[in-house]
Amino acid sequence: MATQTQDDVDDAVPGREWASALYRQSTDQFDRAAELLELDPEFVTRLSEPRRSIVVNFPVRLDSGGVLGLTGYRVQHTLTMGPTKGGFRYGPDVSLGECSALAMWMTWKCALLGLPYGGAKGGVRCTPAQLSVHELERLTRRYAAELIPVIGPDRDIPAPDMATGEREMAWFMDTYSQMVGHSVFEVVTGKPVVLGGTTGRREATGLGVVYVIEAMCEKIGMDLREARVAIQGFGNVGAVAASELHAIGARVVAVSDHSAGVVDADGLDIAALARWTAQNGVLEGYPGATQVGPRDVLEVPCEIVIPAARERQITAENAPRLQCQVVVEAANGPTTPEAEAILHERGILIVPDVLANAGGVTVSYFEWVQDHQRYSWDELDVQERLRRQLRAAFGRVIDAADRLGCDWRMAALSVAIERVSQAARMRGIYP
Ligand code: GLU
Repeated sequence: MATQTQDDVDDAVPGREWASALYRQSTDQFDRAAELLELDPEFVTRLSEPRRSIVVNFPVRLDSGGVLGLTGYRVQHTLTMGPTKGGFRYGPDVSLGECSALAMWMTWKCALLGLPYGGAKGGVRCTPAQLSVHELERLTRRYAAELIPVIGPDRDIPAPDMATGEREMAWFMDTYSQMVGHSVFEVVTGKPVVLGGTTGRREATGLGVVYVIEAMCEKIGMDLREARVAIQGFGNVGAVAASELHAIGARVVAVSDHSAGVVDADGLDIAALARWTAQNGVLEGYPGATQVGPRDVLEVPCEIVIPAARERQITAENAPRLQCQVVVEAANGPTTPEAEAILHERGILIVPDVLANAGGVTVSYFEWVQDHQRYSWDELDVQERLRRQLRAAFGRVIDAADRLGCDWRMAALSVAIERVSQAARMRGIYP
């Protein structure tokens, strides 16, 4: 008989499947909010781990004729609120632990905004920059095919996330449609407009960040037109937020992408930066400003810092050096729990990710509704509804912060957890 080793014991630790720094971050937040709410332990059990996780290993034919073996994931955090919703990403660090954390945050985001979804997230571990367009297409179609048993317009509706966009959504929708024999637009959101996408989805997350900042400024009495803003990330979220803030009259003093950061205390010319990146692909080498490292922009003196790149960027190491009044989390999970404690101590406010970046999934919901209705709304309608929905969510966060005497993250999570646990209580446990 084989003897049991320490490895065997470690592998059997409950929750080990999802273990990752990001998952610990999301469960640490959940545990703190549950404690604040004195949540019935039944709902801690029912909500702290993802309901469904699928791991798929599949081959992709390379242009060279060779084969690449890849691993993909899809995690559905709760099935209580309706179909699940959330993006899928491509990147070398994508893992089950990362997708599980991000799926849990999607649940809270949807519940806070009052969207009829549970949270999900997926992705494929790969290096997209090293793949050709044809290889990416074969990868996306195969990933979609692998997920057929768990996705669908009433089951789980994917969307763009890091390194995925309209193009991937079109391939995904086409693959699903080929399999069922007719066009199913509402199986993904973030599609091109001509394929049942909605006007305003591409800009929605960045625009939503700005709507939340406007509401936040009204609340704390900050004049946005006098404010200096530093943004980490100049992609779909950061670049849109930068140009909207610039248009409103805020002074964007720093932006960065993975290649470099650029700083100008008098305010950057955002249109010139956008032209530069359109021509050169990256910010590096931009002649009109001082160049710094990509993460240095977080430490530039300003009123508002917007991490809009990736998770775990504000850490115990750099949090003591931030020189701002507010951090607005446009990325998911950009602040580690240790950094959060430091910022709290220093009196720096945090507008949490589940509120700040919820514009993306909110307009995804609008897209899904329009696809179901077979009726498209105009741009003004989308923007107006987005603004109203985000301001209402911000109001719920402020009320909960007053009621519970807590910070905005705990308030946002509390609103969401109360809503989901109420639904879970009423549905009961089957059988
Ligand atoms: N990936 C985005 C997020 O993190 C959008 C998800 C969606 O539109 O479903 O919120």
